[in-house]
Amino acid sequence: MKNNLDLNQLDILTFAKNASELSGQYPLDAFERLRQEDIRETPSEDVHWSLRGEEIKSEDGENQIWLHLKANTRVTLTCQRCLTPANFDLEVHRDFRFVANEQIALAQDDENEEDLLVLNRRFNSLELIEDELIMSLPIVPRHPSCHNAYLASLAEENEQSTEFERPNPFAVLEQLKKPTNH
Ligand SMILES: [Zn+2]
Repeated sequence: MKNNLDLNQLDILTFAKNASELSGQYPLDAFERLRQEDIRETPSEDVHWSLRGEEIKSEDGENQIWLHLKANTRVTLTCQRCLTPANFDLEVHRDFRFVANEQIALAQDDENEEDLLVLNRRFNSLELIEDELIMSLPIVPRHPSCHNAYLASLAEENEQSTEFERPNPFAVLEQLKKPTNH
């Protein structure tokens, strides 16, 4: 198989007919929109991805064009509960079926569970990978358990700060003891 396939301009039809597979990894920096979500100054993370094309003959004799996408990476976001950094593993696995045009996509969208996209000889598969990872970001980022992270950050603050206006750590502990909805 050719190795010079351009991920920005992937010929989906040929990719599927050849049952092509591609995989690799790019630095998070290569995905500008996703990278902006990460609070680190220089995230060293990679985005691992794979794409597989498939042509399936359906029962009514129609050839269906499919693209199977997998990607994963790790991002650091601000926990909305304790406002300290929190790591999140992102993992996506999506299957897309390509149809001839927008009208068909709209007409069939309600009756199909799979995601429909419009067939394109110059399909930007990197953008799709990035879109899917962005959509998999937590809506409200939170540590699975804030207590430890929060107390660790308080301890750190304690060492750095000589001010007296910090919140009383015992009052904060009382807050943490309150039941939360999970
Ligand atoms: Zn937290």
